[in-house]
Amino acid sequence: MQKVKKVKGTRDLLGNQIILHNNIIAKFVRLCNSLNFSQISTPILEYSEIFTKSLGQSSDIVSKEMYNFEDQGKERLVLRPEGTAAIARAVITNSIEQNLNKFFYYGPMFRRERPQSGRLRQFHQVGVEYIGSNNYLSDLEVIILAEEFLKDLKIRKKLVLEINSLGNEITRKKYNKSLKSYLNENFTQLSDLSKERLKKNPLRVLDSKEENDIKIVQSSPSIIDFLDDESKRMFENLINGLEKLSVNYNINRFLVRGLDYYNHSAFEYVTEEKKSQNTVLAGGRYNQLFASIGGKDLSGVGWAAGIERIEMHMNDLKTKDEKICFFSTNNELDLEVLKIIADLKINISSKIHFINSGNLKKKFSKANKIGAIGSFILGEDEWKIKKIIWKDFCTGLQELVELDNIDQFLNKKFCEK
Ligand code: ATP
Ligand code: MG
Repeated sequence: MQKVKKVKGTRDLLGNQIILHNNIIAKFVRLCNSLNFSQISTPILEYSEIFTKSLGQSSDIVSKEMYNFEDQGKERLVLRPEGTAAIARAVITNSIEQNLNKFFYYGPMFRRERPQSGRLRQFHQVGVEYIGSNNYLSDLEVIILAEEFLKDLKIRKKLVLEINSLGNEITRKKYNKSLKSYLNENFTQLSDLSKERLKKNPLRVLDSKEENDIKIVQSSPSIIDFLDDESKRMFENLINGLEKLSVNYNINRFLVRGLDYYNHSAFEYVTEEKKSQNTVLAGGRYNQLFASIGGKDLSGVGWAAGIERIEMHMNDLKTKDEKICFFSTNNELDLEVLKIIADLKINISSKIHFINSGNLKKKFSKANKIGAIGSFILGEDEWKIKKIIWKDFCTGLQELVELDNIDQFLNKKFCEK
């Protein structure tokens, strides 16, 4: 029989991969909590209209990537493709629109894309949304969170923060007109995809990854020249803020977000490689999202980062996976060994493995096999004087540790600083 397969574009997480995955989330959660963002977790299943009404028909997600289906009760559902619209839905459903909501989230998202490294059909995001403020200072707050997060992961230096303004509706109307006429002048040279995008939403042509399209886009009008006074002020304040906070950035006047609900600031942390998967973290301000799904006129700003994309840049970061063993010289002491393990109160980064069968020789060879770096061994003589042997497998050295001091001993030896 053929071996059972996993769905294309999905991953099983186990071993070091899940340790890395969880470490990224743990760092993110710790940082968000300390900056007073609260966690929100929305369902994976949502009604299709939450995304079709907000993201825009011309977006990649709605036009081709959504896992969209009718269930047995004839309801149109989707596996959520992104977090922001779902969180806006949750704010409306839970009637908390009047609050200032600072949320963080993490979890799986689903898009039917062509699977490749850093581009999956089930991928995972961490993200934040700051909802209810129209102040550029909240844009800065979420960017600072992104900065701290990427620094904590030690990948900030590999990335460039690109920033742009999409202005308000008036800006985009004027700009769209000018961009459309420029692109129409160059219509025959555009790729088929860009020709298609031009009809539905000319802004999306700026997103093209085709070399020839990029050349044409380079000489296109810049949205920054179309900003009205309000949008200009907002963008200038943001840029001044970044300077003041010593955040490195590049203005990229061609940066647009692929979704309809964005306006004003748009930003991405990208690598300099020219890959289509070079965006690690992406975000911006959205002032029309709530109204598009039947809510009040609320504005927000946020970002999302792909955990798998982060992992691609963290190859050099080894996960700590030290194992230490506990066993007895005499199996009658096994319950005592288990009690010692149960009494350990410290949060050590190493893994404790209790070996509870076989003779002493077998126990040593088992400890070796699992790659332990050392072992605590409880013998009868030591037990009588409330001590335990520590044997370091790297140095071969042995020492006696007070049973009451195992916590301290391990803490000193292995705890993450
Ligand atoms: P891309 O241009 O790479 O398709 P996007 O604009 O569709 O990205 P967003 O919707 O802004 O992406 O999602 C935010 C982040 O989520 C991306 O910057 C990326 O890190 C991650 N991401 C998006 N799609 C995928 C995917 N299919 N697989 C893995 N990560 C993804
Ligand atoms: Mg995409």
